[in-house]
Amino acid sequence: MGAEPLALLFAVAASVSATVAVTAWRRRRAASAVGMLAVVSAAIAEWSLVSGIMTLTGDGGAPRMLWALLFLGVCLVPPGFLCLSRALTDRGWRLRRRTALLLAVEPLTVVTGIATDPWHHWFFSEGGRTLEPSTYTPLVWVHLAYSYTLLMIATVRVFRAWLRGPRSQRTLYGLTLLSTVPPTAGNLLNVAGVVQGVDLSPVGFCFTVVVSYWLFVRRSLHELVPVARQNVVDMIDDMVVTVDRSVRILDLNPAADRLVRRLSPDLPDRLTGLPMNEVLCDVSLTEGTRTDRIYADYLGSGVDLNVRVSPMHDGRGDHIGWAVVARDITALNRHRRELERANARLSEQLRTIEALRSDLAEQAVRDALTGLHNRRHLMDALCREVERAGRERSPLSVAVLDIDHFKQVNDRHGHRAGDRVLVRFAELLTAGSRPGEIVARHGGEEFVVLFPGVTGEHALARLEELRRTVEADSVRADGRPLSVTFSAGVAVLAPGQSPDDLLHAADQALYAAKRGGRNRIERAGPGPSTAAA
Ligand code: GH3
Ligand code: MG
Ligand code: MG
Repeated sequence: MGAEPLALLFAVAASVSATVAVTAWRRRRAASAVGMLAVVSAAIAEWSLVSGIMTLTGDGGAPRMLWALLFLGVCLVPPGFLCLSRALTDRGWRLRRRTALLLAVEPLTVVTGIATDPWHHWFFSEGGRTLEPSTYTPLVWVHLAYSYTLLMIATVRVFRAWLRGPRSQRTLYGLTLLSTVPPTAGNLLNVAGVVQGVDLSPVGFCFTVVVSYWLFVRRSLHELVPVARQNVVDMIDDMVVTVDRSVRILDLNPAADRLVRRLSPDLPDRLTGLPMNEVLCDVSLTEGTRTDRIYADYLGSGVDLNVRVSPMHDGRGDHIGWAVVARDITALNRHRRELERANARLSEQLRTIEALRSDLAEQAVRDALTGLHNRRHLMDALCREVERAGRERSPLSVAVLDIDHFKQVNDRHGHRAGDRVLVRFAELLTAGSRPGEIVARHGGEEFVVLFPGVTGEHALARLEELRRTVEADSVRADGRPLSVTFSAGVAVLAPGQSPDDLLHAADQALYAAKRGGRNRIERAGPGPSTAAA
């Protein structure tokens, strides 16, 4: 292979290892193995980088400092892997300062030896090429033996873990072992002289660290998920009880333990293994059925429970037991009941407010003295009825009524007697009206009646009947009966006539009745009129 492709290969290995180093360093708190992997990856990145540079400069022409830098990476990798193997097989392991110092002795010695003038010949035979085993000095062989010893110890440790470790971890150890094959092969090929002048070990080690990083991340996920789940189950306030097929308790979380002991204080210390119904009576478990039930005042304890039962199945779908999840909903229920009561009170208040509001609305369109509709309502109703009569082409008669000489009633008998007369008159008017007709106090002693669908003749006849009734009626004033009469004008809606004009026409007819001698009814415009009796 030419120098450039080789340099490129080393550059790729350097970048990949550096990426692993940075990523692993960021996640070093996840496990000490990840931290160690970051250190090893950094050493490999440096080794690869210098190897690449040396490929381009040529082995013989490389300055001494470059050799020292190369050996910095070379020497750090074996102790790094030793620590890594330790951290991998023992999660609790941490690198102690003393171990670190001990492991630093060899790399420091070699690098210093190569870099300094009096000793570098111990590592380089005069004029020889260091990457060719035929020119290795004894010290290089010592260094190689030391490095291989460390790597062997690391490999044996992982191998033993692979043999003896738990089944879940065996893939991890096995793959880690496999990942060391490429660097070992690369180095052995060089040492054995098969590949002359180039040591491909850093490229192989780059492969190892990538695989290791992937395995660590995977392992931390695999290991952390069940631990995290257990923590969650232990932390939550809901009680979680797992029950086996024979309906005995397999496990229960602290919340469950607290709750069942509160419900039944006499329970034994150890609850696992007890039949479920000794701990939680009344909760039925049916194979294959999920249930969700509320137990209000559970066994008279004052506690409201929401109990959910789910059957559990193993990987093959066989039923293995149940998960019982219960929640103390006493406080929740109390709040719900309080909320319902508050809601009922609020609804009641809303009804009262609504009644008051419609009362007020009614009062706004009623006259306070007589209880009849007032002028405002009259005008609205008149507009509506005029519009409807025009639309339905039905007759609409309007009468304006005015009590005769009412001022004299006030003057002779007092204002209160006058009021009584007004109230009585309103009663008679209302009694004489029919559904759909509108009776209103227009102001003072003047009243208006709307007769929708009633012709002028019929309105006149009805008013005449009322006139006779009023005339014959009386109220008590100063201990004596007091009678009044009224005059009225009637107008019938003409096509295109406005509400105001219609009322005005009836008013004009009223004046005519007054002028005609009072106690009589006049019809506006042409038509029959009724005179006083
Ligand atoms: P006419 O036959 O021409 O209608 O004569 P009148 O006396 O009935 O008419 P006038 O308009 O001169 O008098 C109306 C009186 O009605 C004057 C006012 O004091 C009285 N009045 C108006 N509103 C009320 C009320 O609410 N209560 C009482 N008691 N009197 C009222
Ligand atoms: Mg009057
Ligand atoms: Mg008047």
